[in-house]
Amino acid sequence: MWSEPLTVGGGVSTEKISERSLLRSNRKVPSASQRPPQRSSSPSSEGFSGTRRSVDMADKGTGLVGTGGTFGRMLRLFDTARGQVVPLEPRDPGKVSIYVCGPTVYGPPHLGHGRYAIVYDVLRRYLEWGGFDVTFVSNVTDVDDNIIERANREGRTANEIAQRCEEVWYRAMDMIDVRRPDDDPHASAYIDEMIELIADLERRGFVYETSDGAYFEAERVEGYGLLARQPLDSLRAGARVEASDEKRSPVDFVLWKKAKPGEPSWESPWGAGRPGWHTECVVMSLGLLGDGFDIHTGGQELAFPHHENERAQALAAGHRFARYWIHHGWVMVEDQKMGKSLGNFTNLLDLIETVDPRAFRLLVLQSHYRAPMEVSRTTTAAAGAAFGRLDAFARRAAGLAGDADAAALEAFRTAMDDDLDTPAAVALLFDLVRRANTALDAGDESAAAPLAAAVREMAVAFGLRLRATDDEVPAEIAALAAERDRARAAKDWASADRIRAQLQAEGFAVEDTPAGTQVRRR
Ligand SMILES: [Zn+2]
Repeated sequence: MWSEPLTVGGGVSTEKISERSLLRSNRKVPSASQRPPQRSSSPSSEGFSGTRRSVDMADKGTGLVGTGGTFGRMLRLFDTARGQVVPLEPRDPGKVSIYVCGPTVYGPPHLGHGRYAIVYDVLRRYLEWGGFDVTFVSNVTDVDDNIIERANREGRTANEIAQRCEEVWYRAMDMIDVRRPDDDPHASAYIDEMIELIADLERRGFVYETSDGAYFEAERVEGYGLLARQPLDSLRAGARVEASDEKRSPVDFVLWKKAKPGEPSWESPWGAGRPGWHTECVVMSLGLLGDGFDIHTGGQELAFPHHENERAQALAAGHRFARYWIHHGWVMVEDQKMGKSLGNFTNLLDLIETVDPRAFRLLVLQSHYRAPMEVSRTTTAAAGAAFGRLDAFARRAAGLAGDADAAALEAFRTAMDDDLDTPAAVALLFDLVRRANTALDAGDESAAAPLAAAVREMAVAFGLRLRATDDEVPAEIAALAAERDRARAAKDWASADRIRAQLQAEGFAVEDTPAGTQVRRR
């Protein structure tokens, strides 16, 4: 089956965030180097007090890296730690290690989860398409206050909640074609390692105990606040007032929470309790990917305090942490109108009941990953219609074979290498489809074939599955869909809803598009 990508049709904003808007300071950081991890000079590993100060400003990166496959160039990404777009120079030539802060499993995935999963899935696929050997790790937070709260509320165990929600998570990820991580460490399996790290930090003088837990003295880490890109003063002022007033500074954070009666707990030198959230990713990322791994990612809201607190612990413990910090933007959901007409649209599973998951991926690609992304009835319908054109082209071009058009792939790489400019790359894809269709209209298959092959290549890099066959919807199902369209045209909503339920019960997802009801097998 052919699967490739498409091009724009929809009204999604593809405007890139201006660099200036992302920067709160003009701080300069040195370029990354390719030293061995222990001696690294990552901008995110600027020294901290009392220990080393390992940044070597004179150390120049060795330049590109890519190796295998077609990758003969350099991907540039916006690194939050440096505050600018920089070339990706991996620790180990030809290999890229990525750590993504994964889900806390206490509820269904929402649209923000869907977006980040797709963004980093595309980063992974694009790097692999370019010949890199990618190791992709994304954790599962199965020890957390929210899980415990829900368990208590529903009279179930925290374990039951976590396991059930994790199953739902991966089912949703499968539906949106997000590949499973190479490793998905669970917090509950790393408790001993977390206790070890906290004990190590304590020996190094970064930990103090209060009545409710063990805390990290953040201000002792030189350069604390780097990822927030704000001065320490404003971080202090902005830090949430928490239950504990025993903290030495508002930016200090809990490493170990002492258990209250009835809470799941583990024994530790600081009493029975559980680790704080910021500690798990440090242990799991360094444990699985090693010091100085390449890319640490997450939403912009994670940069501070979560990522900064991970970074502070790693530095305090003498590790080189992530070489690059990549953060993606928000999802904006059209409010009431959509809420009323489509139910709980912020739930990813609800969305892909009514919208082709492939169209959702296309919609994600049509926004730059750092820009806000708008999910609305209009944008999803446009993406669905655009995907219809891609599928139509896939069917039309199914018999064409040959090498991909080199200039088209070159343009594609240029766009993607520019901080993953997927909106531009998607526009190129649709332009190729248009040109190939024009060639086919003129009966010129030899002109169309290399363009079609380039479309196929680009779809692989995007993870877009195009369908070259249209035979998966039985006639009686198509007839029901048509009946539903007639009901809708007559504003007979009750019948339309009944037919939708019937189609769903038959195992089909139902999608409303400008062209009418579209169905596909689930
Ligand atoms: Zn994390």
